Amino acid sequence: MISLSIDAEQWNCPLLEGKDSEENKNTSYSREGNEILREIFGKHNIKSTFFVTGFFGEKEPSQIKQLHEDGHEIACHGYHHFWRGNKDLNIKEDVSKSKDVIGNIVNKQISGFRAPQLQYSDDLINALVDEGFLYDSSLNPTYIPGAYNNISQPTNIHKPLSGSNILEIPVAVSPFRLPTGWLFMRLLGINRTIRCCKSLLKKGIAPVIYFHSWELIKINSTEVPFYYTYRTGMPFAKDIDKLIQAFGSSAFTTTQHLALSKKD
Ligand SMILES: [Zn+2]
Repeated sequence: MISLSIDAEQWNCPLLEGKDSEENKNTSYSREGNEILREIFGKHNIKSTFFVTGFFGEKEPSQIKQLHEDGHEIACHGYHHFWRGNKDLNIKEDVSKSKDVIGNIVNKQISGFRAPQLQYSDDLINALVDEGFLYDSSLNPTYIPGAYNNISQPTNIHKPLSGSNILEIPVAVSPFRLPTGWLFMRLLGINRTIRCCKSLLKKGIAPVIYFHSWELIKINSTEVPFYYTYRTGMPFAKDIDKLIQAFGSSAFTTTQHLALSKKD
């Protein structure tokens, strides 16, 4: 099966590019993007996973409750959403805070986590074990200069820590381990994403396709490089619809469901 996994967060892309901006605390892009996704997922009757930051959850609790009531999985995406290059980051505190905030909104134990900027690490996995998470989906098993080099890591669901049952559910990569998520979907076209999914399914790997709620909104900001904004909005919404149609509704499930199907 395929899991569509969406990161719902404050739009702090300028901050990630080292810029101060009013937009760094903007939650309206993701809120509006989530409404478009609710419509698309509702039309096809599929359930997806929303990895939500604690900051976003505090600003938009009623929408998180609504997504939960719709039957989507609500998972954690850290609190501050500034991990890569943040010297003040305390992983354990950020994980714990986001889990408390999001868990209180939906009134249940949260089982999944995705690190901001996919900052997968041993410290992260240890923090997630301490907090009782079932799975992590932060590993991008590819190489992106300046971001990470996970080329020697597994591409399928596995246990990243001996002596623990926590599962790692890597995000999908192409047959040559090139990235497939968010900007690559918009820059290289949805047909490539569809081909990547087909190739992974053939190998017995469930593709986890990740993108952001805010990509469903036309972003006009001049504070970030073009690839943050290129083909955001309606063209991307149409792409998501096309991706679902290519495989049919019954092919899609939550990331938690993938984890539970692999659990001992
Ligand atoms: Zn994010």
